[in-house]
Amino acid sequence: MSSSHNRPAIVWFRDDLRMADHPALHEAAASGRPLICLYIIDDVTPALHPLGAAVRWWLHGALAELRGQLEKHGGTLLTLSGSTEKLVPQLAKQTDAASIHWHHRLHERERAQDDRIRQALEQQGCEVKAHWGTVLVDPEAVQTKQGGFYKVCGSFWKALQTQAVPEPLDAPHKLSFHAIPKSLLSDARLNEEGLCPHAPDWAEGFRKTWEPGEAEGQEHLQDFLKDAVADYPRGRDRVAEEGTSRLSPYLASGAVSPRQVWAALQKHGAHTEGPRIFLSELGWREFARYTLYHLPKLPFENLSPKFSKMHWRKSAADLKAWQRGQTGVPIVDAGMRQLWQTGWVHNRARMIVGSFLTKHLLIDWKEGEAWFRDTLVDVDFANNAMNWQWVAGTGIEATPFFRIFNPTRQAEKFDPDGDYIRQWVPELRRLSGKALFEPWAAKDEELEKAGVRLGKSYPRPIVDLKEGRDRALQAFRSL
Ligand code: FAD
Repeated sequence: MSSSHNRPAIVWFRDDLRMADHPALHEAAASGRPLICLYIIDDVTPALHPLGAAVRWWLHGALAELRGQLEKHGGTLLTLSGSTEKLVPQLAKQTDAASIHWHHRLHERERAQDDRIRQALEQQGCEVKAHWGTVLVDPEAVQTKQGGFYKVCGSFWKALQTQAVPEPLDAPHKLSFHAIPKSLLSDARLNEEGLCPHAPDWAEGFRKTWEPGEAEGQEHLQDFLKDAVADYPRGRDRVAEEGTSRLSPYLASGAVSPRQVWAALQKHGAHTEGPRIFLSELGWREFARYTLYHLPKLPFENLSPKFSKMHWRKSAADLKAWQRGQTGVPIVDAGMRQLWQTGWVHNRARMIVGSFLTKHLLIDWKEGEAWFRDTLVDVDFANNAMNWQWVAGTGIEATPFFRIFNPTRQAEKFDPDGDYIRQWVPELRRLSGKALFEPWAAKDEELEKAGVRLGKSYPRPIVDLKEGRDRALQAFRSL
């Protein structure tokens, strides 16, 4: 046993991979105890949302960056692999930890797991301290006048803004660390190696696009405030432009905290239009978490019960064509290929590909949610499910099912010069005007001149847009 003051404090990092504005780290450091910084890769416990391939790639970089930061303070990150419920109490026992510090999770099943771990730790004499570190405010704090929870984002956001959002904390200046057994440390890096793709290494496009980590996340935020926030109300819908912050993977992994974004926007002038609209998007993120907390079925069931009778189509071929960006509808294929190659896709394109899948192809949104979960670097259990239900019309506050995006009109409006389609569907790059948006309707000479052979160099559409739309409306009416 160590002397009482030398007993370590464990900081358990989860989806909060940063040093600044980290209430759990802050508190553990302030206790004066030597720290053990822990991360667990749990591939053995059946998970609510198993880590997708893209997010595993991101995590590999984010953990390395966090370790680098801790090493600057003379410590390190201990990454263990195995059952969370076994490993946490085991480590606390092995090191005689006095306390463990973490941030609350949101879903009831995750909270139940945290409760079981808490009980095991407390029985061993290890104190558990939990904080809210991945949301602006405690989801219990925002209540309707009747004491219930909000089901409409606008009212929720209005109520939240009357709350005091805590100021973000600085990174601790001084940290001291507890010695970690060498055997555990050598495994730590091996455990992380398993996160990266090797044979084949498909992550080249990811590496060209992203650099995970806290410093990079802060740079994204500052660049966005400097260059794009003022024009956000227009720029955020232009799929070919860098009109949005691209902060999503940093927020999802916790490299940047929502309170840091909130505080930066307040300083920048939250009352002006660009920052105000941008903050309302952060409001959607918060609302998704709040909804997941209060309605745990969000990722699993249609929130609007009438859709339980919906006859979704099962077509493996159509689903595959959608996943691979081979539907023959250029704006849809552009979005799906951007996703495949970079692990991220513009919000407008997410809405277009989501509407196409759930309406024109009449395939269940859960298929889209699962594909995004595997391929997005910014995948966020709450945001992904809420947005899929929104697009499909099955959510509590969702776009009505009968509002069906026409992909061609969307492309003409939000990619007016066709730059986005040309970038991601290069086989069409020599087409222009309407033919680029609807190659199936172009004249043969036009296609020939641009070197496009429908059905050979680029697919014919897998669904006639009008027929697909009518079929979706018919299915909806029959509910
Ligand atoms: P910005 O426009 O710069 O917005 C800033 C931040 O606000 C984002 O990083 C994000 O955290 C939040 N935000 C923006 N739009 C939304 C929104 N509609 N809902 C919730 N939060 C939002 N976002 C994810 O973070 N993870 C997901 O898994 C995810 N899946 C989605 C699936 C579908 C079908 C759709 C339509 C949207 C999804 N979104 C998801 C929301 C949105 O598309 C992304 O957050 C956004 O495109 C990220 O780019 P950005 O950081 O440049 O966004």
